[in-house]
Amino acid sequence: MQQTLSIIKPDAVKKGVIGKIIDRFESNGLRVAAAKKIKLSKCDAKAFYAIHSQRPFFNDLVDFMTSGPVVVMVLEGENAVAKNRELMGATNPKEATPGTIRADFADSIDANAVHGSDSLENAKNEIAFFFSSREIC
Ligand code: ATP
Ligand code: MG
Repeated sequence: MQQTLSIIKPDAVKKGVIGKIIDRFESNGLRVAAAKKIKLSKCDAKAFYAIHSQRPFFNDLVDFMTSGPVVVMVLEGENAVAKNRELMGATNPKEATPGTIRADFADSIDANAVHGSDSLENAKNEIAFFFSSREIC
């Protein structure tokens, strides 16, 4: 069993597809172990995506992630990290496999509907960034 962090990004929350996205997880063996709808501060977004701080798209990424509420979740299941990435599809929705979340709900590489941890180690850090242990069950 693994846990991974998922974020439904502001574009997907605005579109009203929270339920449809969570259905993709629950229908594919990922259980929602924790969830909350929050608005990230600039400090939150900069810290969360600190690994990208030197990339040219960093400021746009921070502005986008703080442009409206997001839903942060802990997903739990067998191979949860890789399974979530597979269900999400490629970063650029134009390159995402049909039937993936990004292919079906995302508009662009900037507004790409979901975030998912990309390794088990990052998953642990990202989960701890948003949730205390008593919020996860
Ligand atoms: P995320 O971390 O959000 O789950 P990802 O792991 O698929 O996405 P990363 O390489 O970690 O992709 O990039 C983080 C985010 O930065 C992407 O989701 C995307 O919105 C944005 N991004 C990545 N590469 C580019 C790019 N070349 N141009 C513009 N935005 C980009
Ligand atoms: Mg990433």
